[in-house]
Amino acid sequence: MNGFAFRIERKSRSCAARCGVFDTPHGAVETPAFMPVGTRGTVKGVLPRDLRDVGARMILANTYHLHLRPGDETVAALGGLHDFMAWDGPILTDSGGYQVFSLRDIAQVDDDGVDFKSIVDGSRVRFTPERVMDIQENLGADVIMAFDHCPADPTAETEVRQATERTHRWLERCVKRWRERGGPERGQALFGIVQGGAIEALRRASVEAVCAHDLVGYAIGGVALGEGREAMTTAVECATPLLPEDKPRYLMGVGTPTDFFDAIERGCDLFDCVTPTRHARNHTVYTSQGRMNVRNNGWREDPSPLDPGCDCLACTQYSKGVLRHLAVTNEMLAGVLLSLHNLRFFHRLLADIRSAIAEDRLAELRAAVLEPMTRRIGPGD
Ligand SMILES: [Zn+2]
Repeated sequence: MNGFAFRIERKSRSCAARCGVFDTPHGAVETPAFMPVGTRGTVKGVLPRDLRDVGARMILANTYHLHLRPGDETVAALGGLHDFMAWDGPILTDSGGYQVFSLRDIAQVDDDGVDFKSIVDGSRVRFTPERVMDIQENLGADVIMAFDHCPADPTAETEVRQATERTHRWLERCVKRWRERGGPERGQALFGIVQGGAIEALRRASVEAVCAHDLVGYAIGGVALGEGREAMTTAVECATPLLPEDKPRYLMGVGTPTDFFDAIERGCDLFDCVTPTRHARNHTVYTSQGRMNVRNNGWREDPSPLDPGCDCLACTQYSKGVLRHLAVTNEMLAGVLLSLHNLRFFHRLLADIRSAIAEDRLAELRAAVLEPMTRRIGPGD
C-alpha cells in the first residue's frame, strides 16, 4: 500500500509489548504512540508548533463533527485536513462509529446505516458505510477508519452479536467503496475495527472477520465506554493474540497511564484520548508525583514548578503559584499551558515505555509510574 509500512524493532521478552515504527505518507510514528485528539480540526488551545514540541507525531480528527461543521467538502476546498489543521505530520480520522454509541439517544441504527440528529441544528444526518468513506476521502487524513456499530452494553450478548455482525457487513461495504474510489493509490490507508464487546467468542470471531480483509492496520473498538477495566482487559486479551503480528494495533479511546501499561503489555501500539487536554481545561494535571488540581489555594505562593522533572513550557517558565493564579482567574493561558503540560506528560510516558520495552524493564517502569498516580497531591505533600 502506497506510503505505509509497519515494522517491529524490539519485542519484550516478558510480555507481548513491542516497539515499532509506523511509516505514513506524512512521516513515521514510533510506537507505542499516543495520538492527541483534535475533534473539530484543532487540538484545543495548542498550536501545531507546540504539539510537535511536546512529542506528538500522529494526531486525530473527528469525522462526525467536521462533517457537520464546516462540512467535509469545505475542508476539501480549503486544501484538506493537513492544510486545515496546519499539521504536516500524519493524521487519522475516526468514522463516526463512536457517535453511534455516544449519541445513541439521538441516533437510529438500521442495517444500512445510522440516522443522527445534528448536534448543531437538529437536522437529519445520514451515515452509511459508503458515505463515511466519501466524507473521510474529502477530509484527506492519512489513516481513515471503517464505520462500525459500537454496542452500548459490551456484556449484553444479543445486542453485541447484532452490532458485531453488522460491523462486519459494514466493513465489506467500506472496503469496496475505499477500493473503488482509489483509496490505496491515493495513499489513504483504511483500518478495520474489531468489535465483540466483552464476550470472548464474539471478539475472536470479529478478529477473524475483520482481518480477512488484509488492511494496513486494525483497531480494537467498543472499549473505554465506561465498561470498567476488567471488561476492557478481556476485550484486549481476546483480540491481540489473534491479530496479525506485523500490523499496527490501535486501541480506540484509551486512555490513562494505567490503561496504557495494561494494553501495551498485551501488544497494543496506538492510542487516542481527550483526557490530557480535557483535564487541563478543568485545571487538573498529571505529574510524576500524582494528579493535582492547580486551583488549590495552597499553591498561592508556591514558587516551585508543577513537575520538576518536566521540560514543558508550563514547568520551565511558570511556577505553581502563577499557574494557580491563571487558573482561578480563568485566564485562557491556564488551559493552554496545562494542556501543553499534560500532553508532554503523556508523550514522555510513551517515550519512557518505548525505552523500557527495548531494555526489558517495563514491569519496573509500570510500578514506578503508577504508584504515585493513586495519589492526588496537595500543598505540604
Ligand atoms: Zn510540564
